[in-house]
Amino acid sequence: MRRGASIYRQAQIFRENPSEALEEVYKVYENIEKKENILKAYITLRPLEDVLKDVRKSLESKKPLSGILIAVKDNISTEGIRTTCASKILENYVPPYDATIINRIKSSGGVIIGKTNLDEFAMGSTTETSFFGITRNPWNIDHVPGGSSGGSAVAVSAYMAHMALGTDTGGSIRNPASYTGIVGYKPTYGFVSRYGIIAYASSLDQAGPMTRDVLDAAFLMDIISGKDPMDPTTIDHGIESFSREIERIDPGYLRGRRIVLIRELWEGADRDVVSTVSGYIDKLMSEGLEVIERSFPEIIYSLSAYYVIATAEASSNLARYQGILYGLSEDPSNKSWTEYMAKIRGEGFGREVKKRIVLGSHVLSAAYYDQYYLKALKMRRILRRGLEEILKDADAIATPTTPTTAPRIGEIRKDPYIMYLADMETVTANLIGGPAISIPAGFINGLPIGIQFFSLPGKDLEILRIARASELKTGLHDILST
Ligand code: GLN
Repeated sequence: MRRGASIYRQAQIFRENPSEALEEVYKVYENIEKKENILKAYITLRPLEDVLKDVRKSLESKKPLSGILIAVKDNISTEGIRTTCASKILENYVPPYDATIINRIKSSGGVIIGKTNLDEFAMGSTTETSFFGITRNPWNIDHVPGGSSGGSAVAVSAYMAHMALGTDTGGSIRNPASYTGIVGYKPTYGFVSRYGIIAYASSLDQAGPMTRDVLDAAFLMDIISGKDPMDPTTIDHGIESFSREIERIDPGYLRGRRIVLIRELWEGADRDVVSTVSGYIDKLMSEGLEVIERSFPEIIYSLSAYYVIATAEASSNLARYQGILYGLSEDPSNKSWTEYMAKIRGEGFGREVKKRIVLGSHVLSAAYYDQYYLKALKMRRILRRGLEEILKDADAIATPTTPTTAPRIGEIRKDPYIMYLADMETVTANLIGGPAISIPAGFINGLPIGIQFFSLPGKDLEILRIARASELKTGLHDILST
């Protein structure tokens, strides 16, 4: 384990001393040279010369992200760089425009280093369903890095980029952050524009930072968040600078803050995970953090509600891949429309994606709509109300981010039910639209495990502050796997 340095501070150094930035670019590419063959974090990596050219230009402009290399999950559109969603159906798709968040990064001086691997269409928790092959966990290459933003997590953890972007529909930023020892933050729904992000489940999807510490996550939020006319679901959060708010936090901030442990969210986690994360919370309590235990029995239905809503929305979002507008296509002559569609979709999508399209169409069908989809929507409201009640006199809810450490490659794919259970801690925040963050809480047999803080929509600064105070108190941040 090696310590990095906050990118927030490095960015300041780069602005004063551009030659250091260039040195760091070489260091990152040396790491890639050494490790990428095995780890496979990237689907598309930009050549060093191109990146150097961009970095030099960005350093001249002395902007907040000048000289900073950002790895981007490959479901976020990048003009001129292919964007595959890790799917055969988009294998050669090159978007003609940048997602709003990519636009913002570029105009703040940030340089895109490459596009990272993910579970196909962001459906999964291991990065094993990618058409481009699996990504490995840098802490132990026999284990998965988590998912679906596994490539982005590995790029940060193995210092193959300075920071990364992920997307989180039911935990895809936080799960791989937990498994690789980095920070992963899913902002309140609507804080970050989804324009140009290839949709999985539109009412749950949110992009966010994957970084080495909480200050860096806040720093990246300064740049990517805010209202966007191209995405009508975005809201004006009114926060002038996340990083300035977070920079002034010290461990003393924990005194008198209250976090809630919801019993049902701890019961399903492995014993050693519970003891490691509880031990972490004990350290925070020694600084004056108050902890309340509560029960919320309905919360166990989050997972079912999530899989109904996510697959329903996916079935509609993925209808556009029919081999005509873009992506995989072939000569349609001699085939009926149905035959053609069936062939393209049958060959272009992987098993997990097809399963979800079928499931999602089923729960939306006239005969089953009430029984599944409507019920799931009601559950969403029950969760929101219950959590509003629980958080009336508390700042955040704390859970282990994942019920286990990173599984071995191949282990949970065999049993999809177990794979879905990996999301039990994370999906609730997406269903209520609230902010959630995972930060490193310790190691079990050499593999990292994260603690998650989440809260109601709009409470982003509250959870970022608690997370920042916690990482400073415990010293478990800026961890690199190399
Ligand atoms: N593992 C969850 C799923 O497969 C979450 C994925 C995500 O957040 N993109 O749906």
